[in-house]
Amino acid sequence: MLDKETLVAWDKRYLWHPFTQMQDWLTEDVVIIERGEGCYLIDAVGNRYIDGTASMWTNVHGHNHPELNTALKAQLDKIAHTTLLGYSNVPAIRLAQKLVEITPAGLNKVFYSDNGSTAVEIALKMAYQYWQHKGEPQRKLFIHFDNAYHGDTIGAMSVGGIDSFHTTFDSLLFKGVRVSAPETYRSTCYTDTSDNNTAVKTRWLHAVEAALSENAGQVAGIILEPLIQGAGGMLVAPKGFLKELAVFAKRWETLLIVDEVMTGFGRTGKMWACEHENVTPDILCTAKGLAAGYLPLAATLTTDNLYNAFLGKYRDLKTFFHGHTFTGNPLACAVALENIAIFERENLLSELQPTIEHFRNRLQEFYRLPHVGDVRVCGLAAGVELMENPGSHTPYPFEEKVGIRVCKEALARGAMLRSLVNTIVLMPTLQITISALDTLLDIVYTSIETVTKK
Ligand code: PLP
Repeated sequence: MLDKETLVAWDKRYLWHPFTQMQDWLTEDVVIIERGEGCYLIDAVGNRYIDGTASMWTNVHGHNHPELNTALKAQLDKIAHTTLLGYSNVPAIRLAQKLVEITPAGLNKVFYSDNGSTAVEIALKMAYQYWQHKGEPQRKLFIHFDNAYHGDTIGAMSVGGIDSFHTTFDSLLFKGVRVSAPETYRSTCYTDTSDNNTAVKTRWLHAVEAALSENAGQVAGIILEPLIQGAGGMLVAPKGFLKELAVFAKRWETLLIVDEVMTGFGRTGKMWACEHENVTPDILCTAKGLAAGYLPLAATLTTDNLYNAFLGKYRDLKTFFHGHTFTGNPLACAVALENIAIFERENLLSELQPTIEHFRNRLQEFYRLPHVGDVRVCGLAAGVELMENPGSHTPYPFEEKVGIRVCKEALARGAMLRSLVNTIVLMPTLQITISALDTLLDIVYTSIETVTKK
């Protein structure tokens, strides 16, 4: 076993970390996680931290879960990987059947890949090709939103809306119709039905309708993160927005693509965010929590209508020419099956409701802190936005790294977090106990208080 000093030295010598300014990284201490237990992470020198972001929004039932481990090991004793190109495998078939059963009615076909970005790329390519088969090849545009995040591949970035991530690559990205988001500051909670929230919804819907009408007959699809935009800052959509968007998609005869990569698997309090508004999209993307945060696995689900448009003679070249080497990986699919089985066995979604309510109530206490501008909550996901002056809506200067400093403070107090600029993200594992959740919230509160009073 390597000692911590060697691990840190090798990390700094050999690794390039994602979304990380490596010049800063090289001067800082590195936390190296070695083990996990439920909602806790344990580092190479034995420190325990509450996993405040469910390991990049993936983990569902906690780390090192005995039943998930057993399912993985049982599959490992059979086969680790075999291809879905030209052949099939048992866990991939069983999981596809199960996904069709648990997703909104009408989504009947499952196309696997490995991560959220690929699930989105597949959705975009499916929609694009669909219109060619339907004799409407001019439908090439995707309507997408400010602050949207759908991943880091070129297609996923093309429908994104976070300038700091995407502007560098502008000339590589394909053209779409980006709809500007109205102010969501203080439209804070998914259950909020205040006038302010209704006004936000109306403005946003007008913007979408204008985009549809200006580009009539050319829109391949509308893509969005349902209910809450994650990486854009945990921005909660007004209640009813998704439902009305689905109506628009039907009225303008275009496809609705929902990216449930973050919201799927219970995060919003239902299995899928779409269920809150009884929406069946034409395409649904899932990843992160699909294999319970254990292994990279993604799926793009679609309707019979879309799938049938790709059927034809071999020579017609209507085939969907897309696939990844590890598509339908049996280990990941076996874990995903057990993930869903645990939801069912433990009645997790109804068990989760008191935790969600407690989370939402306790988060309101954060408004007591003078530099908390906004607290946005949706299910067991939240963003606490820090402001230099919440009254005048003045953000902290970017270079002050206030969010990063709060995360460091929290780490020293036993919680692992990651901020989105100055929004502190809270996304605990779903099985977290109320008592561990309280500890997490106390740590975050004190950390914000400590950093912002300096
Ligand atoms: N879509 C959404 C809504 C996401 O939140 C993310 C990742 O955070 C992605 C897509 C991209 O997923 P991945 O990082 O697995 O490619």
